[in-house]
Amino acid sequence: ITSVALTQHYLDRIERYDAELNAYVTVTPELAMEMAKAADAMLDEGKGGPLTGIPVAHKDIFCTDGVKTTCGSKMLYNFIAPYDATIVEKIKAAGMPILGKTNMDEFAMGSSSESSYFGPTKNPWNLQTVPGGSSGGSAAVVAAGLAPLATGSDTGGSIRQPASFCGVTGIKPTYGAVSRYGMIAYASSFDQAGPMARSAEETAWLLNVMAGFDEKDSTSIEMTRPDFEAELGQDIKGLKVGVPAEYFGDGLDEGVEKAVRDAIAQLEALGAEIVEVSLPNKDLAVPSYYVLAPAEASSNLSRFDGVRYGYRCDNPQDLQDLYMRSRSEGFGAEVKRRIMVGAYALSAGYYDAYYLTAQKLRRIVRDDFVKAFEQCDVIVGPVAPSPAFKIGEKSDDPVSMYLADLYTIPVNLAGLPAMSVPAGFADGLPVGLHLVGPYHSEPTLLKVAHQYQ
Ligand code: GLN
Repeated sequence: ITSVALTQHYLDRIERYDAELNAYVTVTPELAMEMAKAADAMLDEGKGGPLTGIPVAHKDIFCTDGVKTTCGSKMLYNFIAPYDATIVEKIKAAGMPILGKTNMDEFAMGSSSESSYFGPTKNPWNLQTVPGGSSGGSAAVVAAGLAPLATGSDTGGSIRQPASFCGVTGIKPTYGAVSRYGMIAYASSFDQAGPMARSAEETAWLLNVMAGFDEKDSTSIEMTRPDFEAELGQDIKGLKVGVPAEYFGDGLDEGVEKAVRDAIAQLEALGAEIVEVSLPNKDLAVPSYYVLAPAEASSNLSRFDGVRYGYRCDNPQDLQDLYMRSRSEGFGAEVKRRIMVGAYALSAGYYDAYYLTAQKLRRIVRDDFVKAFEQCDVIVGPVAPSPAFKIGEKSDDPVSMYLADLYTIPVNLAGLPAMSVPAGFADGLPVGLHLVGPYHSEPTLLKVAHQYQ
């Protein structure tokens, strides 16, 4: 098969199904076909790598040269990025045609893709339910066969939770393993980009293209990129799999618990040794995150002022009016809520009470993991307490939406790598198994996932 034929196949499916799913904000058929032709030419000359000619979809948080990059916001509804994010550039260089940009929660703030200015994305498994978020569009396009591979970003779970809800595989690499240059910033000390695909193996292929040191990102780790495929074929005999008792408490859906316990039994059958570990302070993570992430967001989002790019209000009276109305008209409710919380937490009088305390809690949560990894190689558990919920079910109750991040957020506080792997169904909807490892253990996580799949 040629890249042109393969790319056309996905474009046809997008044309047919995306009106209903709303998983793409922008489809780029001309760009895709042009890149597919170039990829075929490369392949004809015997050049290119394992992914040359395979199309990809990018979350609309990644700047894409000459293509609209909205971050799910009215604030950037007309923003054409003048350059490529490093990962977009790397994926282009690998010869992968770009199908388009996927829908997401506004500025990646959310767990359902409902806060997008472009309307909610639907879960391909059940159109009444959310695909998760914020990378819900990327998870949905992979699940529905509207792209074989997609990029996502994960600040508090945004790759893993939508992967879980849509039955696809996604990995959030170690903080700093993948460049954030050109990825629109939400909470910079947590943000991390990663791949989403149907299987661990495909995820590893795309991560091989995405990861690596980038001098344009000061938090990028200066190390030789591991070969993420290298360990896939090895068995997991004797591998110590930690199961935190605290993960199976109140509020966990029975069907999700069963799927996760079955998965653990299967890992044991594959030769892994199951050990009980403890993460006693896991409940400190959500409150810590929902102070720190908004604090960082309030600072990051100050650049959207109606002057330099994006949305600008009509007929501003003066500069103050221009700022105020552009921001109040351009940002949605959830983004405003976070900016207000963040600015409050950072204000001089409250800094110690909120921001500093939250930083201390962050450290405690991280230390729990460090201790747990003295006893095991990976930690497993649920990704989310429930399968995909109904569209609209949580949109009026932000706190219940925040609380549902309890399994994914601790990992971002610690900067660890983690993935979601499909592990069966609950109520007819997909359930993911959460694998968390020590820093730079991606090859091991991918191996466990691959052996399990
Ligand atoms: N749901 C979390 C939030 O709203 C995480 C989102 C993300 O990882 N981008 O902040």
